[in-house]
Amino acid sequence: MHDDPTTLAAAPFWRRKTLEELTAEEWESLCDGCGRCCLVKLQDEDTEAIAYTDIGCQLLDDFNCRCRNYPERQQHVPDCVRLTPETVRALDWLPPSCGYRLVEEGRDLYWWHHLVSGDRETVHAAGVSVRGKVAALEDELPLEDYVDHMVRWPLRLPRGAVRRKAKG
Ligand code: SF4
Ligand code: SF4
Repeated sequence: MHDDPTTLAAAPFWRRKTLEELTAEEWESLCDGCGRCCLVKLQDEDTEAIAYTDIGCQLLDDFNCRCRNYPERQQHVPDCVRLTPETVRALDWLPPSCGYRLVEEGRDLYWWHHLVSGDRETVHAAGVSVRGKVAALEDELPLEDYVDHMVRWPLRLPRGAVRRKAKG
């Protein structure tokens, strides 16, 4: 990503490594904890277009915006997408704020990412996480009601999220 070797050596890992080069620990830390990808998505049968809803996955903790059983999530939610460098490149519904998407696109993390701010609360303070925005979890609503919960905000950045970016 950087041509100057001095600059490259000084850069944090997400600016000098590709997704493939990350250690397992670095990979996990790249998730900002926004919870956006854990919202239920609907697919149009004809166009295959994906639309977000404000309905959370059954395992989503809608306050902490984290999975309530991450290690065993695929036993309970078989269609939970396991992110890999390949899936990050293939999925067009990953939010523009997603740490994996940003690194894949060669972009820096935003100021509110915990790796930049040092604080896991800033993703919530910036209005990027789903905290306070989840209408219900998927097992709390009948399937026919899902369409009434389609929302566009998971694919947008709130104003406060771009107010100041990471420097350097
Ligand atoms: S959208 Fe990306 S950064 Fe946000 S919770 Fe999902 S994987 Fe993590
Ligand atoms: S199983 Fe966990 S990680 Fe997967 S979508 Fe649901 S809450 Fe998110």
